[in-house]
Amino acid sequence: MGRAFVYVILGGGVAAGYAALEFVRLGISHGELCIISEETVAPYERPALSKGFLLPEDPARLPSFHTCVGANEERLTPKWYREHGIELVLGTKVKSADVRRKTLLTATGETISYKILIIATGARALRIEEFGVRGSDAENVCYLRDLADASRLVDVMRSCTGGNAVVIGGGYIGMECTAALVKHRIKVTWVFPEKHCMGRLFTPKIAAFYEDYYKSRGVNFIKGTVLTSFENDSGGKVTAVVLKDGRRLPADMVVVGIGIRANTSLFEGQLNIEKGGIKVNGRMQTSNNSVYAVGDVAAFPVKLFGNDIRRLEHVDSARKTAKHAVAAIMVPQKTGDLDYLPFFYSRVFTLSWQFYGDNLGEVAHYGDFSSGRFGAYWVDKGQMVGAFLESGSREEYEAIAEAVRLKVTVKDMTELEREGLEFALRV
Ligand code: FAD
Repeated sequence: MGRAFVYVILGGGVAAGYAALEFVRLGISHGELCIISEETVAPYERPALSKGFLLPEDPARLPSFHTCVGANEERLTPKWYREHGIELVLGTKVKSADVRRKTLLTATGETISYKILIIATGARALRIEEFGVRGSDAENVCYLRDLADASRLVDVMRSCTGGNAVVIGGGYIGMECTAALVKHRIKVTWVFPEKHCMGRLFTPKIAAFYEDYYKSRGVNFIKGTVLTSFENDSGGKVTAVVLKDGRRLPADMVVVGIGIRANTSLFEGQLNIEKGGIKVNGRMQTSNNSVYAVGDVAAFPVKLFGNDIRRLEHVDSARKTAKHAVAAIMVPQKTGDLDYLPFFYSRVFTLSWQFYGDNLGEVAHYGDFSSGRFGAYWVDKGQMVGAFLESGSREEYEAIAEAVRLKVTVKDMTELEREGLEFALRV
């Protein structure tokens, strides 16, 4: 049994949606494109899961956050795919791939062949078992990567109002889930091994602002230690979390956000792998000419960083790499190498920040941390390489992005700190 398409997108997440929109814009015929996804719904804006979807009041629900609504573009509902003759093969896992034969084999036993493949398999949440701790299958232990996880998390939160949650992991999943739990009137203890939250991006000073805000909302922090085991009741439900430093925390529920791993396994041994992702060139093309990779799974050269190969786990990168791959496929003579400015954002409670570039070198903090109007610049070898801003306006975010894009020269860090936002606004 088998079907053949000109273009196949493997994976039905953010990148797949943006790639489909670009294919339609650049002109494909009905029946040429197929999207295969393990998820049972059409591509959606994944960040909405930890923001709107988890809210106790007026939560976001599909179809409101299908791609590409997040970027104020057309919203791609299942009807949109039907109208454009795009085959959505949902609820279907691809279990093997043969890039030499240009075929994919699904778990239902179907062989789907392609002329051009775009790999958009994203990433999966790391499980505690990978760190030697058992217990992920307990009904009140939650992860958050897809819609099924988010629906489960909502059910568990609703059954725990007034109770205790332990959040494991200091990254943005931990940070955004903690905010959602607080809104559900659940008391949170947030546990992570680093000295402060968002350790991969925040400076200690930036982290202190957010941690103080979280404390003011009743969140308890336990840092510098990790989870070692759970205590369970006779039904298998977790009742307490045991930490390496010996502490025991009673828990009605647990949320785990300890990082992700790119879904590369189908292609290991067939395509070049680097930095945990599928290595592509500036046109998102892998080591096989007929195969492209985009989004969280792709490791691509970032021009701005001297073509250093990076694998970015951010929604903006998924959107832009997807569009770029489709342009490289459909209009190759007009498409050069992607020139991408890395961008990441988050929203928690009433706070909202954006970050552009790289967090390398020396840091200059600016603004007023006590009022929540602050930011930071990163300067490496006399050039601005990164910028962060909390509660900025559109114009201010554009200004800091531009300063990083231009890698403006910085002569004096003290002066930069003193000028703050004005420095970027006059670039
Ligand atoms: P994904 O969106 O993960 O899609 C991958 C798809 O491939 C999935 O549908 C999956 O089921 C499918 N798939 C994988 N393997 C197979 C297989 N073998 N067969 C069939 N289908 C398969 N980024 C930000 O910049 N800002 C944010 O605020 C932000 N918030 C986030 C909040 C949450 C809760 C999560 C989980 C992520 C968030 N991100 C955020 C990250 C952002 O969502 C990702 O960078 C983005 O989704 C990556 O898009 P992608 O298409 O590469 O992968």
